[in-house]
Amino acid sequence: MKVLVPVKRVLDYNLKVRVKPDGSGVDLSNLKMSMNPFDEIAVEEAVRHKEGAPNLPNSHYKAGAVTEIVAVSIGPEQAQETIRTALAMGADRGVLVKADADLEPLAVAKILKGIVEAEQPQLVILGKQAIDDDSNQTGQMLAALLDWPQATFASKLELTNGRASVTREVDGGLQTLAVELPAIVTTDLRLNEPRYASLPNIMKAKKKPIDMKTPADYGVDAAPRLAVVKVAEPPKRQGGAKVKTVDELVAGLKAAGVI
Ligand code: AMP
Repeated sequence: MKVLVPVKRVLDYNLKVRVKPDGSGVDLSNLKMSMNPFDEIAVEEAVRHKEGAPNLPNSHYKAGAVTEIVAVSIGPEQAQETIRTALAMGADRGVLVKADADLEPLAVAKILKGIVEAEQPQLVILGKQAIDDDSNQTGQMLAALLDWPQATFASKLELTNGRASVTREVDGGLQTLAVELPAIVTTDLRLNEPRYASLPNIMKAKKKPIDMKTPADYGVDAAPRLAVVKVAEPPKRQGGAKVKTVDELVAGLKAAGVI
């Protein structure tokens, strides 16, 4: 089974976001960019279903369930690095759709639809959300455009006989869905713990092929439909205070109206 994994290049999750002084967006100049963390989980999941995970106790991963993993990124030239990371983790080849502006989820979903039609995967595993725009839309939109079933926020994925069994963490428990393939799955945090690529695999990844495309190759007009009115920093936290006694603490909490 072929699996498509869309991987987005975003500001590294360890870095503090800086808003541009004119409030038009976030300043990304000279900052480290990395693969969206939920997409690392998506790549890891695809690789485990390809290679198996014999070291995990009671593993449900069967080697060979997935036979090919294609990592796709839509973004600037540098998004090639994000694809290379996916290739170093175990993806087989990449597709970079070059776009200079940060595209909205609908445009990304339309491009992914074009790639799905060209590649014919049985499964697309996306992150549940990109940590830069927090949209949580692309997987759902892609499922709608393709008219495929979707199972979002997966915390376990089992593949058997043309079906996926997806466990989702919902309020107060776990929900398990059975979906016919082809299908869309989006990853939640507890699906797995992604590996770090080893140095030999980083070297091997340099030789894996990446196809270069543009939105026009898929007939997609990527012009934005939304206008960002303003981006602002969250309000600064008020400083805390140290107290010497419990009485002082209680008095302070009363004064603040907490108790
Ligand atoms: P979002 O709907 O923007 O929160 O993104 C959800 C998921 O869609 C991400 O975790 C990625 O798997 C995928 N995605 C969104 N934008 C891109 C992009 N520019 N390139 C590749 N994948 C993307």
